[in-house]
Amino acid sequence: RAKEQGKNKYKVFHTGMNIQSYRTFLMQNDLRKAIARNEFSLVYQPRVHIESGKVMSAEALLRWNHPEWGPVSPEEFIPIAEEMGLILEIDEWVLKSVCEQINRWKELGLPSMRIAINFSAQHFVQRNFIDQIQTILHDARIAPELIEIEITETAILGNEAIVSQTLTQIRQMGIMISLDDYGTGYSSLTYLKKFPFDTIKIDHSFIQDLASNENNSRVIVESIIWLARQLNMKVIAEGVERLDQLKLLTEFQCNEVQGYIYSKPLKPEDFIKFLSAYGEQRAAEQPKTNAAV
Ligand code: C2E
Ligand code: MG
Ligand code: MG
Ligand code: MG
Repeated sequence: RAKEQGKNKYKVFHTGMNIQSYRTFLMQNDLRKAIARNEFSLVYQPRVHIESGKVMSAEALLRWNHPEWGPVSPEEFIPIAEEMGLILEIDEWVLKSVCEQINRWKELGLPSMRIAINFSAQHFVQRNFIDQIQTILHDARIAPELIEIEITETAILGNEAIVSQTLTQIRQMGIMISLDDYGTGYSSLTYLKKFPFDTIKIDHSFIQDLASNENNSRVIVESIIWLARQLNMKVIAEGVERLDQLKLLTEFQCNEVQGYIYSKPLKPEDFIKFLSAYGEQRAAEQPKTNAAV
């Protein structure tokens, strides 16, 4: 059977597709089956509050383990799922899974933590989006305060009125909203004022250039942080990998950081281990600094 399938694929390949579109073609087929086949999973990346050092929340990130290719990056399969319209179903699966995970952690006696989810642009113009979220949270008995939705500026573009309405309703439910990848898109100042964001996430490309100050990233990062504060919004820096970046962000009074400097996105069981190890390490450090004073 496998051989037969292989032959078919081979035929399609020769009708004029290049390798890239062939891979996309295969991926489209396999993505449709991925939920049912249990190939998706979630990893969680902690966000650390700079001033207190506490882990405040985490971002859930989707992983796809393809039966033949192994892990496929979301950077590759999300755009394809979006093009197919399949992302609506996938993100719904993500929200449900996050709710289940929150409940599982609660059963284990862990303190509840807010989890951020990435929602594709397409959701925000769906009529039943709010109802859908409400139903999922209600069925799982999850407080809306435990969920945060990350959206990018592209989600807003061209649909300002309806997206604004949707976001306001989401906010009224008690769900937090953050603007993801800020600085890479239009970086609109109008959006910041017009939409009910709680948090701005500065894109990792700016953080990467921080120490070298390439592309004026220092003044840009500092300005975004300043602006957010004036607008009563929180700022999270994404992709923080090194101490020199963390130092500058601390100086600029950035609120939270997310990045490899603390942890990669982790499987649920490793996330718990991280939390306890991190907590112990902090507890061990605390008396030392007190003694030094
Ligand atoms: P994003 O939401 O901006 O997520 C941040 C990305 O940065 C993640 O990549 C994360 O693994 C990576 N990252 C975190 N810390 C560091 C660091 O210190 N250094 C570097 N170099 N990278 C870091 P990932 O997991 O590959 O996800 C890529 C993108 O795919 C996400 O960007 C998001 O736009 C999308 N995505 C992921 N999960 C979902 C999902 O469930 N639904 C939707 N619609 N999109 C998702
Ligand atoms: Mg995100
Ligand atoms: Mg981002
Ligand atoms: Mg992104």
